[in-house]
Amino acid sequence: NTEIYYDDDADESHLETTTVAVLGYGSQGHAHAQNLDDSGVDVIVGLREDSSSRDAAEADGLEVATPVEAASRAEVVSVLVPDTVQPSVYADIESELDAGDTLQFAHGFNIHYNQIQPPEDVDVTMIAPKSPGHLVRRNYESGEGTPGLLAVYQDATGDAKERALAYAKGIGCTRAGVVETTFREETETDLFGEQAVLCGGIAELIKAGYDTLVDAGYSPEMAYFECLNEMKLIVDLMYEGGLGAMWDSVSDTAEYGGLSRGDAVIDDHARENMEEVLRQVQDGEFATEWVAENQANRPTYTQLRQAEKNHEIEDVGERLRALFAWAEEEETEDESVRMQ
Ligand code: NDP
Ligand code: MG
Ligand code: MG
Repeated sequence: NTEIYYDDDADESHLETTTVAVLGYGSQGHAHAQNLDDSGVDVIVGLREDSSSRDAAEADGLEVATPVEAASRAEVVSVLVPDTVQPSVYADIESELDAGDTLQFAHGFNIHYNQIQPPEDVDVTMIAPKSPGHLVRRNYESGEGTPGLLAVYQDATGDAKERALAYAKGIGCTRAGVVETTFREETETDLFGEQAVLCGGIAELIKAGYDTLVDAGYSPEMAYFECLNEMKLIVDLMYEGGLGAMWDSVSDTAEYGGLSRGDAVIDDHARENMEEVLRQVQDGEFATEWVAENQANRPTYTQLRQAEKNHEIEDVGERLRALFAWAEEEETEDESVRMQ
């Protein structure tokens, strides 16, 4: 049984005499910095000299310094720049970490795959809100809070977990509930989920369904509606009530057809492929590839992105969304929603 921590389990006095350096003022950074500040915690935002985020942080009434300056003045350093740049930002601030300080993350990639190797005398913790940053901020302001994950990688002080819980309370996560996990579990399940199911798996399922219909002579418009557009209605039902709510709401014909045919599509072979994706996450093959890809300026990434944009379903969708009202009703959030 999973332990869930709420406000009563967290003691904000752990951050009373503490300065928190929030490195980065993007999706998560702006939310953590403002929520902590509103919770009465002393916050400094760390940004590079020419940062495009500086004006926003200052307009929000926060003090801005360089990452090095912010880290040198803080006892808790919250690393909220993009995962791919964290190792280089960390290299700049490492010498500012004193014994007993906390290095705080919102995702485990760089610690778990040894891209950042902190000294042994600091606490290394994670509070990972299960939402994009603009919702972490909005939910704090509305009093609701955002569910989150907590993990302790290194407990040098003996207080790492209590301090992390205080941080979680400061950003509003303990209002909604915080679940304990490990850096390994958070990182590996996150990568597997986005690769096999949430981003990679679903995009390929949609394209494969679309291609099958169009190749068989059906109209691209019909294929788009059936295989992509209706996905949202189905996912909304699952979000509200699990698979059961979805099966209950569709027709008996859809239920029987889906139950009897679905596993012919995601068959043993597809499941073996999922295991292979998981293996590459677990043994670090994916991480090594992604780090090298970034060092080489992302050649494969750029090419894969372009190929995805060139798929016919994207043109059909653009045309259809312009013709129908639903796209206007459901304007997407101004800030990008990322899988974390
Ligand atoms: P963002 O991409 O939104 O971070 C952008 C910020 O980082 C900007 O302030 C940017 O400022 C700064 N930045 C970028 N490059 C550098 C650099 N080289 N040196 C200094 N500052 C830099 O990050 P996210 O908020 O998306 O992610 C932060 C962490 O939170 C990650 O570990 C991520 O995995 C995790 N996370 C993200 C979630 C999300 O929904 N986005 C959800 C849960 C966790 P500048 O103008 O200088 O470029
Ligand atoms: Mg149908
Ligand atoms: Mg993710």
